[in-house]
Amino acid sequence: MSFYDVLEKINIDSFKSLVDTREDRDVERALTKKSTLGIDDFASLISENARRHYLREMVAISSQLTRKRFGRCVNMYLPLYITNLCSNKCVYCGFSVMNKFKRVVLDLEQIEEECVAINKMGYKNILLVSGESERKAGIDYFKKVLPVVKKYASYLQMEVQPLSTEEYAMLKELGLDAVSVYQETYHKDFYSKVHLGGKKADYKWRLETPDRLGKAEIDKVGIGALLGLYDWRADLCATAMHILYMRDHYWKTQLSVSFPRLRPAAGGFEPTIPVSDAKLLQIICALRIFDNELDLTLSTRENASFRDLILPVGITAISAGSSTEPGGYAHKGENLEQWTVNDDRSVDEVVSAMEHNGFEAVFQNASTTYFSTTT
Ligand code: SF4
Repeated sequence: MSFYDVLEKINIDSFKSLVDTREDRDVERALTKKSTLGIDDFASLISENARRHYLREMVAISSQLTRKRFGRCVNMYLPLYITNLCSNKCVYCGFSVMNKFKRVVLDLEQIEEECVAINKMGYKNILLVSGESERKAGIDYFKKVLPVVKKYASYLQMEVQPLSTEEYAMLKELGLDAVSVYQETYHKDFYSKVHLGGKKADYKWRLETPDRLGKAEIDKVGIGALLGLYDWRADLCATAMHILYMRDHYWKTQLSVSFPRLRPAAGGFEPTIPVSDAKLLQIICALRIFDNELDLTLSTRENASFRDLILPVGITAISAGSSTEPGGYAHKGENLEQWTVNDDRSVDEVVSAMEHNGFEAVFQNASTTYFSTTT
């Protein structure tokens, strides 16, 4: 049985009313519970009542849990876009095959140039990102790319098309440490409305990817939904279910969760149900209180002041100085970016802001540091 089979048995739209009917006493129960929190508790933490009456308390608890588990260190990573080629039709993404623009697949020399530029920025934690093109940027391409990037990375992550268990195991041998595969939305019918063609239209194949990653024993798996795409109440409760499922079935696998908000991109798709700053703050607190060990990742989709504000609350990994165009570190401005970066500060500026708030930016290795006492 996979997580797909688990989700097939429920109607995730029922989570909307579950969240809407949570009362103060439900929130209090979730905040004081000593045993593992369930989906009801998570629904309480993302409810309107929790935001109105308990947000300050949630921020304090979440910050404290994060310091206790992760100290004041924050892992720094940088995305490296290796191609903007994509055969999928995602209506919310600039790289969709429906948008006409110059497509590039970086060759090994260009990738090496990017890696040199990335190392110069101080980064050793590299996240390889690509569109999804089996033909020109499939497993054979990745098998050539990884050994090149590995020379420059002490921690190597990927966010590319879903692969098979055997392919993940093969890439692990080449140095792959972590893979993120976001479901975008867990709502099956809505998923088919925003993924109009290409392999990504296969909801089941995508949803079962974290299962395959767990079986391949990849060290860390990133999951999450694209906030603003479908109803956040349904997608976040489904994400919480996914966390519980992964903990149950793949206990060796570390988990990270991202909460990207939909950003403007070529194609002009607008968020269906936008998530406000206050709501996102609440979501981060809710995830941390729900699972103390989660890595929580924040990209440059968010603006500078908001990133500085929410970093202490629960974030364990961030990017800074990011480019979302292939070749964008060595040769900025030559290709289309996937989405518009919203925090365009330099790495030094971001690190200064972190240090000012008492945090240490860790560039060398993303291995999770655990602390037994509050620091
Ligand atoms: S979201 Fe990913 S798969 Fe979809 S069009 Fe964009 S790059 Fe391709």
